[in-house]
Amino acid sequence: MGRDASSPVAYTAQTRLLVIAPHPDDETLGAGILIQRVREVGGRVDIVLLTDGDNNPWPQRLLERRLRIGGAGRTRWAARRRQELALALRELDVPADGLHALGWPDQGLVPLLLQPGNDLVPEIAALITALQPTLVVAPALADRHPDHGTAHVLVRLALALTHLQPLLWTYMVHGRELPGPSFVVDGSAAQRTAKQAALAAHASQLALGRGRLQRMAARPERFAPVVVEVGSGSCLPWFPPWWLRPWLRLDLVCLRGVQRWTWAHAPLRLEASCGFSALDLAGTDGAPHFARLSLPLRSPWIFDHWGWAELE
Ligand SMILES: [Zn+2]
Repeated sequence: MGRDASSPVAYTAQTRLLVIAPHPDDETLGAGILIQRVREVGGRVDIVLLTDGDNNPWPQRLLERRLRIGGAGRTRWAARRRQELALALRELDVPADGLHALGWPDQGLVPLLLQPGNDLVPEIAALITALQPTLVVAPALADRHPDHGTAHVLVRLALALTHLQPLLWTYMVHGRELPGPSFVVDGSAAQRTAKQAALAAHASQLALGRGRLQRMAARPERFAPVVVEVGSGSCLPWFPPWWLRPWLRLDLVCLRGVQRWTWAHAPLRLEASCGFSALDLAGTDGAPHFARLSLPLRSPWIFDHWGWAELE
């Protein structure tokens, strides 16, 4: 049995850890030590890989020495990154049958989730039901990479669908940690070395960001337990400037599906106490509801400015 001074649980042979990784390398950066801690006591580790990280043109241009990347190029890059992930998982002692790759489009999870009738949530729910995790580790809702925040939304909705209640911890890759309870999972020197070896296996990602990724992997692993505060209302955390509002779009996602509005038509109320409130949108079904504010213009900048927020 293993335990961290600050970790709320002990890991045992009965621990079944499920790590949600939007792209190859997130499992290592987010949970490379935790994965080893669970494995060293004989626990089971499964990785759900949402995308193959195939939409990653700048490292690909550099390593393949070509400017144009077509469909075949993306397929080739996906295969390369899957191979790198297989090597990384070996370093972290995760058996090959622990990898569950869904092959969804890299940088495409937001449009996919907002598509009416998509079955992303049931697909993850089916995996969770099959794997019966005791601990799920998923990206933080506030992660600025749209695939990461959306992965959080997907996991929360999938868990609500299964009615299973494993522990749920989040990790942040892009963005600053939010205030609130969190704890650190630490490993031995050998485990920290293995984590760097797993990162090195993702060689394509080191081509442009070696120092940054190595420093990130050297940081202690910090997780935040998901705690939903009941009764905090439905105040949106955003107050966009008036001149931008005509272009903004608000999306709401819950188990009943997706609703979309332009800002002007969204059912919002301006309240003195909290800014814009969406009181009628959060349901009473006890399942989570998430809103997303975005500016749907073409831009080379992929990171979210506002991103997702949970309505309670
Ligand atoms: Zn990622």
